[in-house]
Amino acid sequence: MLELGGFTPLSTTDWPDRLAAVAFVQGCPWRCTYCHNPGLQERGTGRGPGWAEVMVTLSRRVGLLDGVVFSGGEPTLDPRLPDAVADVRGLGLQAALHTAGIYPERLAALLPDLAWVGFDVKTDFARYDALTGTRRSGDAVRRALDHLLASGVDHELRTTYHPAYVDDDALLATARTLRALGAPAWVLQQWRAHEGASELPSMPWRWPAEALLDRLRAEGPPLALR
Ligand code: SF4
Repeated sequence: MLELGGFTPLSTTDWPDRLAAVAFVQGCPWRCTYCHNPGLQERGTGRGPGWAEVMVTLSRRVGLLDGVVFSGGEPTLDPRLPDAVADVRGLGLQAALHTAGIYPERLAALLPDLAWVGFDVKTDFARYDALTGTRRSGDAVRRALDHLLASGVDHELRTTYHPAYVDDDALLATARTLRALGAPAWVLQQWRAHEGASELPSMPWRWPAEALLDRLRAEGPPLALR
């Protein structure tokens, strides 16, 4: 069964304009310097409910929920994810995914069954390895992003910004890369401290500088700030 690190029965924020439950899949092969939830990195340590228990909860909420978001960690790490997605769809609910694009071929296989994907674009591809601690990670994300953009599946490309790990040059390079790939939109979201997240210096209060925003808008896809 899917290994879960947690389960949220109702969220209004993890899938735009949808009421969703969120299943946090345990495990991630990367070690990002700023990981939002390092407690979800190690496989075999999941403290969430069993998938059968989650399915009982979901079956009682059919009609109240639009769907289920599989988040993490990195959900595509778990070989049982496709079965769990099928279970959710079998209830008449939609399935969505949060992913960092770590396993491009697994993402490609899953896309026909997904209603929405929240895709992390951490930085431009050339800078990935230093951020994730993993060789050739940017190459994998590039392939995953190609699959997503070609699929036509509804999605959000988002970059979490903190100047301690994604500086102005990296943001500009990311903007240009996404525009070159034909990305229809891009969300820039401010890194926020929360319990369990990796420690980072506090954010500068003027963020990002207006001059940088102007350049990102001029050189990248249509931009939204969060
Ligand atoms: S990809 Fe996500 S879950 Fe994995 S280490 Fe990086 S921030 Fe953490």
